[in-house]
Amino acid sequence: ALDLAFFRRFLDRATRVIVAEAPYLTDLDAAIGDADHGANLKRGFTSATDALAAEPPATPGALLTAVGVHLTNTVGGASGPLYGTVLRRMGKILGDEPVVEPEALGRALAAAVASVRRLGDAAPGDKTMVDALQPAADAYAEALARGGVTAALDAAARAARAGAEATIPMRARRGRASYLGDRSIGHQDPGATSSALLVTALYEATD
Ligand code: ADP
Ligand code: MG
Ligand code: MG
Repeated sequence: ALDLAFFRRFLDRATRVIVAEAPYLTDLDAAIGDADHGANLKRGFTSATDALAAEPPATPGALLTAVGVHLTNTVGGASGPLYGTVLRRMGKILGDEPVVEPEALGRALAAAVASVRRLGDAAPGDKTMVDALQPAADAYAEALARGGVTAALDAAARAARAGAEATIPMRARRGRASYLGDRSIGHQDPGATSSALLVTALYEATD
């Protein structure tokens, strides 16, 4: 069930994988940005995890909202407000239901991606986190129409990872990497890569 324990497992796994992969994310950002993406997210997720341990939220929506607020306040850069928006938007849509319906999670994912696209003025193909998040939200909805939530999250995670890899040949049109023009081609986008890790953490929280 998509209950509070599920979203706690998600936050634990997300924090663990972000800490473990922070050097890799920062290396990706060194190639086409300013070499801080891993450090930014590591700071944000560890701080959110500590804050939530001190003050445990009562519902899935409250948990996601609290994480979003912490990310906005501690991550900085471009990705802080963008990831903060993703989580706050999801938290708002999930409201104060103690157990989230799979369809509601789908609506939350779709709305969160729409908010990021609006805030960042980014579309698929611009070589940003949207290139992982949009396919993930789409794959979730498609797979949920055919099967259960575990299969839908698995499909979302696979689509996010494929989307992150698909940023390699893209030319960046948003964020710092866009300053490089054609020199951004040939490198995987750091934000799309962290998004794929986060969607994978959501899938892994199902067990
Ligand atoms: P900064 O670029 O400020 O140092 P980070 O390194 O933490 O911030 O995050 C960079 C990532 O943020 C990029 O790889 C990209 O995925 C994402 N990003 C940057 N600008 C935008 C935007 N306008 N819309 C969507 N995503 C963006
Ligand atoms: Mg950076
Ligand atoms: Mg920076």
